[in-house]
Amino acid sequence: MCDGRIAAVGTRAQVEAKKESRRAEKLDVGGRVVLPVFVDSHTHLIHAASRAEEYELKIQGASYEEIARKGGGILNSVKKLRAATEEALKARARAALEEFSSYGTTTVEAKGGYGLDVSSELKILKLQGELNREQPLEIVSTFLGAHTVPVEFRAKPDGAKRYIDLLLEQMLPEVVNEGLAEFCDVFCDRGAFSRAEARYILSEAKEHGLAPRLHAEQLSRTGATQLGVELGAASCDHLEQVNRADIRALGSSQTVATLLPGCDFHLGWKNYAPARKLIEAGAVVALATDYNPGTSPTVSMPMVLSLACTHLRMTPAEAIAAATINAAYALRREKRIGSLETGKQADLAVFEVEDYREIPYYFGMQRCWMTMKSGEIIYMRD
Ligand SMILES: [Zn+2]
Repeated sequence: MCDGRIAAVGTRAQVEAKKESRRAEKLDVGGRVVLPVFVDSHTHLIHAASRAEEYELKIQGASYEEIARKGGGILNSVKKLRAATEEALKARARAALEEFSSYGTTTVEAKGGYGLDVSSELKILKLQGELNREQPLEIVSTFLGAHTVPVEFRAKPDGAKRYIDLLLEQMLPEVVNEGLAEFCDVFCDRGAFSRAEARYILSEAKEHGLAPRLHAEQLSRTGATQLGVELGAASCDHLEQVNRADIRALGSSQTVATLLPGCDFHLGWKNYAPARKLIEAGAVVALATDYNPGTSPTVSMPMVLSLACTHLRMTPAEAIAAATINAAYALRREKRIGSLETGKQADLAVFEVEDYREIPYYFGMQRCWMTMKSGEIIYMRD
């Protein structure tokens, strides 16, 4: 590699035959497995606290939606985020980013959505921008003002409509003018936003230059997937409730099907997304952690690979491709990251295993030995 990019790829003899390699510094990884780093294309990076208390209630039988109706769930995180200082939010996110890199991830998509008022949503996106500049991982920002309707609007007549007006008239222009996000996401589901509302929000955002992505068909089938395909969304995420027509639509589109099995695992749900059917239909399938305090508190992409292999019946090779190049495609960065090819950014992860299949095989174990971003080692196991 040279200037943070991959200069040559091949066998030792092929690479050593290049004249530039005579001056090159050698890094011996001792026979370990080298992969392109993971690209985590769906996270809710910035939040104020865990929701371990709700985890216990869920184990005792309360449903995710019951908890949400009692002011728990997303609204609980909103309350905590609004009360948190910028310093505390940033310190928590920074610690998480260090952990992401220790599991072999160097690019992290991050969504707002726990602010749900103008100043809090802008605060989250600005912190993401600062973190992107101040630490080695790349943060890709998504505006998710449409995560749910905040509590102060729920009591009002036409509350959802009035919140959407605020989102489009006040939040969106500021996000765009200040260059705070690349993508706009909507949680289109039962208890969140309808398909018609998602269409309206994403169409406006697209006109302002933000590419659409969607939380689609997680709790119920709303038709969000086909809306995403129609709008040319970068990705539709979750997809537990997709039907045959949705699978067909994804199969014949460039919209990535991003699966988040950490969520189903943490909630103890048995209804995982139909990964095999999506792959057979020709869909571009990606995997992400969905790191968030309510439904998927993990930064470990190797754990997501284990879940994808065991529960989604993806092969280890399919799962690795889904967490690297396909995820890079979901963030529209496939020309720069996601694979080990000449000219691409020198981002690589080295694992303490003998065979790449051992990465998902050992579940919940830390096997990442080294992580490199743009030719610099950013994590090394002691
Ligand atoms: Zn999410």
